[in-house]
Amino acid sequence: MTTLAELDWQTYNEMVTAPDSIIFLPIGALEQHGPHMSMNPDVLIPQAIAGQVCCHLDNAMVAPPITYGYKSQQQSGGGNHLPGTTSLDGITLTQTIRDVIKEFARHGARRIVMMNGHYENSMFVVEGIDLAIRELGWAGVDDINVMILSYWDFVGDTTIERLYPDGFTGWDLEHGGVLETSLMLHLYPHLVDMSKVVDHEPAMFPPYDMFPVNPELTPPSGTLSSARNASREKGKILMDVCVGGIAHAVREKFQSSPAVSALETGVA
Ligand code: ZN
Ligand code: MN
Repeated sequence: MTTLAELDWQTYNEMVTAPDSIIFLPIGALEQHGPHMSMNPDVLIPQAIAGQVCCHLDNAMVAPPITYGYKSQQQSGGGNHLPGTTSLDGITLTQTIRDVIKEFARHGARRIVMMNGHYENSMFVVEGIDLAIRELGWAGVDDINVMILSYWDFVGDTTIERLYPDGFTGWDLEHGGVLETSLMLHLYPHLVDMSKVVDHEPAMFPPYDMFPVNPELTPPSGTLSSARNASREKGKILMDVCVGGIAHAVREKFQSSPAVSALETGVA
């Protein structure tokens, strides 16, 4: 994989101005993920996926991730009141995304993939993309294309049935649960301690939010479902599905090469 920040500027210049170059920008958060895991899975997981996807593409680079994200919401991240969770205002994230896209465009980048790892970021990233494309258009740059994706959207029903035989509660309640914990066990086992997993029923929320939040609605662990059934094996399955699916989508949109790698034949 090519790490953008580790290149010298002349090598970067050659790569970024190549006709089929692609920059991946992982966008995460610094957010508590329960007592059993570090606070950076939302950064590390999309960064690792982007790194592996890059290996299957020509002239692809992974940019340094955005390591802070939009405020954790109670029904998808436990809430922004929890210690450790350190968030940006929406306007800060939006403008950071806008600025970084405009800078890559100034270097000549015309294909950028925003790899989101933190649900709450979604619309602020969209806004940053929209502002960047609008302003680049004013400057006469009208051939930039930006893809935005959240890696869990590439986990299809077949994989969900295989990994959640007892039923699936939805991605929002997966905060600190089987998905993220399995991926972290596969990628960064030293950042997970399964002996500290708090086994609890999935969190129950009313169909609305109140502000300020009632902290008692968040399970005391900070996780929204139990990671008890997480495993390295599940993490490997999830990684393969996400890398295969994303590589396929990116190549389809951005690189017309008809080559089909062995990786893609395993896509669920
Ligand atoms: Zn997360
Ligand atoms: Mn998150």
